[in-house]
Amino acid sequence: MKSIPCLVFGHEYVVTRHVTYHVKEYSCKNCKKQLTTSGNGSLIELTPKFKEINDVLERIHYKRLSRVSKLGEILQKKEPKPKKENELLLV
Ligand SMILES: [Zn+2]
Repeated sequence: MKSIPCLVFGHEYVVTRHVTYHVKEYSCKNCKKQLTTSGNGSLIELTPKFKEINDVLERIHYKRLSRVSKLGEILQKKEPKPKKENELLLV
């Protein structure tokens, strides 16, 4: 059920969980309605199904993050050369 402030002013969402860089979960401060970011970046209602998906995403994200941070250090020291040189010659 929508609370009166939500009807008048709209929902007042706050981020309740950072799943990945792009996916977050939100909850309305007034009526507790929950939203999440969908695959295409729009906001959708946070159903138990999406909560489950976000749990998986979060696990993958943090696993990858621990690996990427090491890779990031290497890449920052030595910038990879663009691989486009050969392609440009063919054009
Ligand atoms: Zn609300």
